[in-house]
Amino acid sequence: MTELKDVKGVGPKSLSLLNKLNIYTIEDLVTHYPFRYDILERNDLSLVGDGERIVIDGKVESVPILMRFKAGLNKMNFRLVTNSGVVGVSIFNRAFLKNQLLVGTGITVIGKLDKTKNVITASDIKLGVLTNKVKIEPVYHCTSGLTNKNLSTYINMALLTCGKEIPDYIPQEYVEKYNFLNKKTALNIIHNPSTDEKLNEVRNRLKYEELFEFMFKINYLKEQNKKEKNGLKRVIDRSKLEKFIKTIPFELTNDQKKAIDEILLDLESPSRMNRLLQGDVGSGKTIVAFIAMVANGLCGYQSALMAPTEILAMQHFINLEKFLGKTKIKIALLTGSTTKKEKQDIYNGLKDGSINIVVGTHALIQDEVVYSNLGLVITDEQHRFGVHQRANLQNKGIKPDVLYMSATPIPRTYALTIFGDMEVSTIKERPKGRQKIDTYVKKNSEIKDVLGMMYEELKKKHQIYVIAPLIEESENSDLTNVYKLKDQMELAFRGQVEIDIVHGKMASGAKDLIMEKFKNNEVQILISTTVVEVGVDVPNATTMVIFDADRFGLSTLHQLRGRVGRGTSKSQCILISDSDAERLKIMEKEDDGFVISEEDFKLRGHGDLFGTRQSGDMSFKIASIKSDYKILLQAKKDSREYLLNKETNNDELKKKLIASIAKA
Ligand code: ADP
Ligand code: MG
Repeated sequence: MTELKDVKGVGPKSLSLLNKLNIYTIEDLVTHYPFRYDILERNDLSLVGDGERIVIDGKVESVPILMRFKAGLNKMNFRLVTNSGVVGVSIFNRAFLKNQLLVGTGITVIGKLDKTKNVITASDIKLGVLTNKVKIEPVYHCTSGLTNKNLSTYINMALLTCGKEIPDYIPQEYVEKYNFLNKKTALNIIHNPSTDEKLNEVRNRLKYEELFEFMFKINYLKEQNKKEKNGLKRVIDRSKLEKFIKTIPFELTNDQKKAIDEILLDLESPSRMNRLLQGDVGSGKTIVAFIAMVANGLCGYQSALMAPTEILAMQHFINLEKFLGKTKIKIALLTGSTTKKEKQDIYNGLKDGSINIVVGTHALIQDEVVYSNLGLVITDEQHRFGVHQRANLQNKGIKPDVLYMSATPIPRTYALTIFGDMEVSTIKERPKGRQKIDTYVKKNSEIKDVLGMMYEELKKKHQIYVIAPLIEESENSDLTNVYKLKDQMELAFRGQVEIDIVHGKMASGAKDLIMEKFKNNEVQILISTTVVEVGVDVPNATTMVIFDADRFGLSTLHQLRGRVGRGTSKSQCILISDSDAERLKIMEKEDDGFVISEEDFKLRGHGDLFGTRQSGDMSFKIASIKSDYKILLQAKKDSREYLLNKETNNDELKKKLIASIAKA
């Protein structure tokens, strides 16, 4: 297969920019689909009303005059000759175009027409005139230094020179059945559409392909599960378990009890458990998981609890010690930062069975880890583990029962499809005494109010989370970063409280240390990226301040907000943003994670619902689980039929799909 760097025009610099967009291969490049299309329909000056949008092409008639203002602002004015007359054009912040806008150059201007002044205030200028009356222009996610035009050029170059090498994940029989265009043609059209109709046809084909590939894997896992009848059959001593439950310092909610019952029945039944436990942040899933592990331990089996981050693993470990400290159950913590010596001890303990429960990160499913009698595997924040990891877990050791926990509630119908290979338990009810978290949307100009609110909380000896989308300053982004925020917070609160930073690029030891300090109230303001998004539990923290809140999906914001309101004090969440207020306002009204995830669905397709940033294979490039649900169901049916059809067992495609599941 031709490599990305071999595409004509792609040099080392553009290669690294492409990498930034997660494009590493030719296949990634040609499936970097436009996220929208601009429809440019050439207008006539006389036919466009005052103040209306206009798209018009013509030739630059006068040398553009550039004016520079304070704060990096600039404006350019020039005249444009069009087929329907001469018109003035003015555009802000495109000084860099000046050298290209030579007199006589053909361009297309998009903007608003002021009829009295005969001037277009342009929002965009494209070099080149429209060849047809209507042009559909693909718009890609770009990165600074890599323009829409660059991307389009590279993509088309790749399609031209190696379009035939791009794999198609739809088996030939279905290509024929649905009369699909071949992959190369489809890609050509999606990147260079000419009419609406064709575009829709092609989009559906590519969506189907993506969903077919995904559902094939889900179906495969489901079939594998079915084949494994040799699950563990246990007899759980309910009275012993009840004794343990009595030691828990609070009363379980009815939903928690129901989930526990469902899990216990699964553990007792001879077939393997494969269950998703979903519930809003703070609904109390963890204790349910602990009880399941105790039940498993009472039957003499080991349990493994896998968390997506070291911070979370550590927290589970500490909690487990708290709840199980008085029992004979031996617990170990295994993460990437466990020392070599400790690791060896833990490996030994797991192998000889002296460790009953092990908590950790992905380290738990590495090859070196051998269990004596692993009976139960629990993964926290299931949506962060993709199909691959799920497969890997199931391949590990003897066939343990598996419970996945997810705090991103998925509407039931979708859950049943996407997690078609699982049973689902849902916790809706919240523990008693939980207060609603007051949520406010604020503008950057209201920062003084925000600092005032923070000050009030600090006076009450409460702690605060402050979230920024970036870690450090970035030359191509104005977004807030944690280091800048630290300076600002220091300025406001210096000498009064301790302020510290935690982010994803820190060494895990350093990260844990700071989280530990925050937990112990040695740090009062914790500035962070979304690494605190999941699970961290510090009841004394009552305020969550999120900068550039519009950069996050609602589900993520809801997760972040769930970090506060964990104690008895009234808590609040402040969302700071100058844009997207309407979407953010949903957060002010709504505190039900299920409703919020539905809203996210509506607004962003599957958006970050499935933790696209982390999980990789849950993120679809073109399909959306909600709006393409019909295609999903068809792909589900077809991929199952294909999977079960023995005649196709020697298909290269089938082998390839199966191999891709096994390799984690
Ligand atoms: P999540 O579902 O987000 O994982 P947790 O399990 O972390 O929620 O629970 C949040 C907090 O609520 C924890 O401090 C936990 O000990 C507490 N908690 C769980 N269940 C109950 C309950 N039934 N009554 C009171 N507090 C509870
Ligand atoms: Mg949790």
